[in-house]
Amino acid sequence: MESGDAAPMTPIGVNLPNDQEIRETYGSKSVSLSNVTEAYEKSTPREYRKEFAWSQEEVDRAEQWAAFAGELTTNLHEIIGHGSGQVSAALKGAPEKALKEHSSAIEEARADLVALYFVADPYLAAIGVVPAESQDDIVLAEYEAYARNALVQLRRIREGTQIEEDHMRNRQLVVHWLLANTSALTVSTRDSKTYYRVTSRHEFREGAGRLLAEVQRIRAEGDYEAASTLLDTYGVHFDAALRDEIVGRVDRLDLASYTAFVMPKLTPLRDARGEIVDVEITYPKDFATQMLEYGQV
Ligand SMILES: [Zn+2]
Repeated sequence: MESGDAAPMTPIGVNLPNDQEIRETYGSKSVSLSNVTEAYEKSTPREYRKEFAWSQEEVDRAEQWAAFAGELTTNLHEIIGHGSGQVSAALKGAPEKALKEHSSAIEEARADLVALYFVADPYLAAIGVVPAESQDDIVLAEYEAYARNALVQLRRIREGTQIEEDHMRNRQLVVHWLLANTSALTVSTRDSKTYYRVTSRHEFREGAGRLLAEVQRIRAEGDYEAASTLLDTYGVHFDAALRDEIVGRVDRLDLASYTAFVMPKLTPLRDARGEIVDVEITYPKDFATQMLEYGQV
């Protein structure tokens, strides 16, 4: 179960510690919460993908591979994303200090870009992580889901035209940088609805690699100016009319902006001396009651 900062809106993976020096010297550990990924997946209405996918092939690809591809890229994000990368010897002090308020969005972008680039690496098939004959489809399903998400996440910001949350900034940054600097993606409209379409899997990967090189350089050198410019150009601002369109589309589908989880309830079972001998797990399935119960403690 989760509490405090982690609940009731749970992350899908955790990588600790955050401190760069400890990570470089001793390494880091990653936990992937597969049951959370599965719950998100199963609670997503099917019409949602249809609404934001350009073609039936994209819907079919997502139904077959998006859950697997999403979990795989989350693991790559945590392990070879956050778990990698060295700081330039010329940088005095931690990159977090140099990059200040941009540090977290830049680091999330770096981890996402590592995952987007390496998910297409033939080595993953060679070691049996993905079936070789399906890797192209898995990669495309992931790129398409990533592009759709940049549109759909706008539903969360119902006021103003600025993104504050770091993961959201990073995802806007990646997609809008690719739109502006590559031919990997295109913006299409049909029946007054906007779609982000992946037009080239190869261009997407190549572009992710180019942006990764720059984001890695920014973090390694603690280049605050470049981080500011990059995020301000691609990651922070959005078009209010587009957001209103997306909000209208998700409202018609009755799609929630955020998903919260009801936690299992852990009850200690004690023997005659009061020692804990087992823990009983029950599932209350009532969100409001659980929140009120936590509030009493
Ligand atoms: Zn992360």
